[in-house]
Amino acid sequence: MADRVDGKRLWSRLMAMAEIGATARGGSNRQALSDEDAAGRALFLDWARAAGCHAQTDEIGNLFVRRPGRDDALPAIMIGSHLDTQPTGGRFDGAYGVLGGLEVIETLNDLGISSQAPVEVVVWTNEEGSRFQHSMMGSAVWSGKLGLEDARHLMDAAGRSVGEELDRLGWSGERRAERNSYASTFELHIEQGPILEREAVDIGVVTGVQGFRWYTLDLIGQPAHAGPTPMEGRSDPARAIAGIISGVYSMAAEFEPWSRATFAQFTSRPTSPNTVPEALSCSLDLRHPEASILDEMEGRFREIVVSECGPLGVQGEITVDNDSPPVEFDRVCTDAVQASVDALGYSNKKMVSGAGHDACYVSSKCPTSMIFVPCEGGLSHNEAERITSEQAERGANVLLGAVRAMMHHLIGDADV
Ligand SMILES: [Zn+2]
Repeated sequence: MADRVDGKRLWSRLMAMAEIGATARGGSNRQALSDEDAAGRALFLDWARAAGCHAQTDEIGNLFVRRPGRDDALPAIMIGSHLDTQPTGGRFDGAYGVLGGLEVIETLNDLGISSQAPVEVVVWTNEEGSRFQHSMMGSAVWSGKLGLEDARHLMDAAGRSVGEELDRLGWSGERRAERNSYASTFELHIEQGPILEREAVDIGVVTGVQGFRWYTLDLIGQPAHAGPTPMEGRSDPARAIAGIISGVYSMAAEFEPWSRATFAQFTSRPTSPNTVPEALSCSLDLRHPEASILDEMEGRFREIVVSECGPLGVQGEITVDNDSPPVEFDRVCTDAVQASVDALGYSNKKMVSGAGHDACYVSSKCPTSMIFVPCEGGLSHNEAERITSEQAERGANVLLGAVRAMMHHLIGDADV
């Protein structure tokens, strides 16, 4: 029978962590590199040290706590997530993955299981990217996607930099902010979407992360008086955008269930109610887990812009602002999660993540997978974010089993 974590211990720690930066409406506010973020880490470190782990911080403040292996020189199995939150964040986004990792270490201790390879729990710095606007900052630096100095120069609204705050908190660690060699990594997280709850499934076996592309669409027409100018013959960017939006929504519907299309950030000029606007711009966020389909969606979007603008004499320009390719997680890691779920007998489905996670960056350097549990109403980045203690326990059980399956896979560890 599969081993189990101590669900009560995990839950009490989740609740204790949520009290740090607790908000009036039941959420948490531990923005990156704030005093609350530091207090959250201090509490986590107390627990980790009591569990026999030792800690190291790298140059960008990523915190690694390590349960030594019998051969401590072997690449560790990493479990990671984040403790920082949105300003009106929930109790589980990030904290669940970190405390679930600690729970795995404590359960290994309770069961008297030593492992050949070390096990580390990592707390990535500034995953949320709300105070300092670069989401998944710590894992981006670790994986070489963002330069250390570029990250240190990010500023908050009050004019303080990441570098100053790292130095103030004593988080500018000695360890180089680049990857050590890791055998694999797992991230346990709430789904942050409604699918598992809607389908009454216990566990999401996450096989990858949706790719997304951000575009700015600029439409240039001809300003004209709203009264005397007949509808016929106007070069009206608003009319063009109406056709483009409806065309893109229909196109996205052809690639469901995983396609996403989101228009936002509309501006027009001049901002006058009785003038046909000269210019209108908006953003479009397109997502799909398969790169070839994302390419196709982009191609179709471009065609729609041409066909809607042409007859109106409107000029359409598309700029690509951000291109985050889809991530496919490592098969061996995903199989370890699947084997663990199957051994526990939980209902499950394979799925892709709609949100970005530290695991996206980490997966570029080390075999990675994620485990999702349902959250109430799919609600996240919200003080009302909620999971049950049973859901929390199930996810951590899966994590424990996946880590043990990986230990076994890597080195045929006799003890595991
Ligand atoms: Zn998160």
